[in-house]
Amino acid sequence: MEQFDGLCVQGCQRCPNLVESRSRIVNGVGPDDADLLFVGEGPGETEDEQGEPFVGRSGSVLDEALGEAGVLREEVRITNCVRCRPPENRDPTTEELANCRGYLDSEIAAVDPTLVVTLGKVPSEHLLGRSVGITNEAGEIVDARFGDRSQRVLLSVHPAATLYDRSQRATFFETIAEAVDLASLGDGNGGSDGQSRLGEF
Ligand code: SF4
Repeated sequence: MEQFDGLCVQGCQRCPNLVESRSRIVNGVGPDDADLLFVGEGPGETEDEQGEPFVGRSGSVLDEALGEAGVLREEVRITNCVRCRPPENRDPTTEELANCRGYLDSEIAAVDPTLVVTLGKVPSEHLLGRSVGITNEAGEIVDARFGDRSQRVLLSVHPAATLYDRSQRATFFETIAEAVDLASLGDGNGGSDGQSRLGEF
């Protein structure tokens, strides 16, 4: 039976194809009062195996960018538009995105972050409800309305883009540094000297 506590869902069967393809539901992780909330597309293979968003190669890039900006992964919240892995890593369908939207909206409202960061084209278009040219629009800040709520959103390329196109790396790292700055997180180094709080541990 479906259960939802405002942040995490259990037992959801709304998307028949994803119920077939998933190993488990991958809920968001991180503090329930985080200032910074990242929204990705959906779980990939590693995330489906481990039950946590952004723990594969893309997650390593995100962790690295956060570290350079002086923030630990544990200080931010990370979630996805859909919480179940699509088969063959295809994009979630419009219907699947709609099925899961209520969970995402509730999570954003519950966390009430200073800033939402969309990681890639799919979450950007899903949250803004319009077409997005993410390569051109990365780094832009938008005031979006989710229901009766106004939310500041920063658009970012997907961290995986840096793996396949090295020119995207600077864009991604600059956007994450901007996000940390806007959310008033970090150690003030801004990544400029390569130092990070990760070095303290
Ligand atoms: S993607 Fe979301 S709505 Fe669809 S089955 Fe998974 S948890 Fe439910």
